[in-house]
Amino acid sequence: MTDRPLLAMAAPRGGKAPTHFADLDDAGRADAVVALGLPAFRAKQLATHYFAHLTTDPDDMTDLPASARETTASALFPPLMTEVRSLEADKGATRKTLWNLHDGVKVESVLMKYPERATLCVTSQAGCGMACPFCATGQMGLTRNLSAAEIIEQVRLAARQARDGKLGGDPVRLSNVVFMGMGEPLANYKPVMATVRALVAPAPHGFGLSARHVTVSTVGLVTGIDRLAGEGIPVTLALSLHAPDDELRDELVPINTRWKVDEALDAAYRYYEATGRRVSIEYALIRDINDHGWRADLLGEKLAKRGSGWVHVNPIPLNPTPGSKWTASDPKVEQIFVENLRSHGIPTTIRDTRGSDIDGACGQLAVEEQNRPVGPSARLRREGPRIGNTGAEPRKEPS
Ligand code: SAH
Repeated sequence: MTDRPLLAMAAPRGGKAPTHFADLDDAGRADAVVALGLPAFRAKQLATHYFAHLTTDPDDMTDLPASARETTASALFPPLMTEVRSLEADKGATRKTLWNLHDGVKVESVLMKYPERATLCVTSQAGCGMACPFCATGQMGLTRNLSAAEIIEQVRLAARQARDGKLGGDPVRLSNVVFMGMGEPLANYKPVMATVRALVAPAPHGFGLSARHVTVSTVGLVTGIDRLAGEGIPVTLALSLHAPDDELRDELVPINTRWKVDEALDAAYRYYEATGRRVSIEYALIRDINDHGWRADLLGEKLAKRGSGWVHVNPIPLNPTPGSKWTASDPKVEQIFVENLRSHGIPTTIRDTRGSDIDGACGQLAVEEQNRPVGPSARLRREGPRIGNTGAEPRKEPS
């Protein structure tokens, strides 16, 4: 990650985003400034501008020699994304932003203000290869992985929006990040981990978020969960289960044909043991598909038999995707589902769904531009690169 030739830093790498300051670790940042002819201590100043002041504008970098500002900023902070548009919902408390990446690929992130926190839902891949039939992104297939800096830039730019009062007026501090936007984070492991490190590193090395305020959500890639457990950064793990039995989960979360319900739950339990962090089980309640009382009981039994205090369940009313034959469960059925789980001693809270009127709610992120017949992203979608999307097998992680 740190040894890329610096002259090539600002040049796109074979469809990949140009290397950016945020892709580098501390040592890589120091090497990068030295390669530009500056003393290594400038790296810390640049990190302060980026992670604390949330700026890449050379005019803001008044602690750098005037003659070096422009060249440094253009070498280390190549523009990776531009805002196409933002949509607001929930009286300004939810803001979805559509970003255009260097190659015309579009991705979305969603910023949500709550009384006690502000949460950003980030995208880790353009599209997704996991093919879950109820999820809008799952219908698109995978276009490409995002680089670390492309994920980190979503955070920086959202933190700026929040700071600058674009989330309902007053300045707000971004406190939480959830990898629940487009993509399967554990199928893009290294960039996602580099992002996690930048999120939790204390300022000026990173954004200084608490690890417990970072949530990595996964379909249940068991090898990825175990790898994450070994990183020594106790982020919150969310496992998107959606069914307690293999027969139904094979259909709802096709990766289940590779790692079964019990294997995914065992990996989640190991994650809890390694980190001490209580795991979240995500469960989109789909009317007459997975919302039966007996399924709540089966889930409750499977969780309770592994231990107590290690898990909680977040049922989410399904956000129907356009054209879907499925819809959310009846509220009475939802209530029974919750009560059944609680009767097994499993803490259960219905997850609120923000921004559904701007297609910004859980599982709704899909970019319509990509379905247009013309334009670079449409071309990309038609002609590739389309990696993965086998539905059953995770794409090989890049080394
Ligand atoms: N690939 C990861 C993260 C992205 S989705 C994962 O699957 O966990 C974030 C959450 O939204 C997941 O729990 C996902 O199952 C859920 N989700 C997807 N589509 C949904 C929908 N239509 N309604 C409600 N939740 C949905």
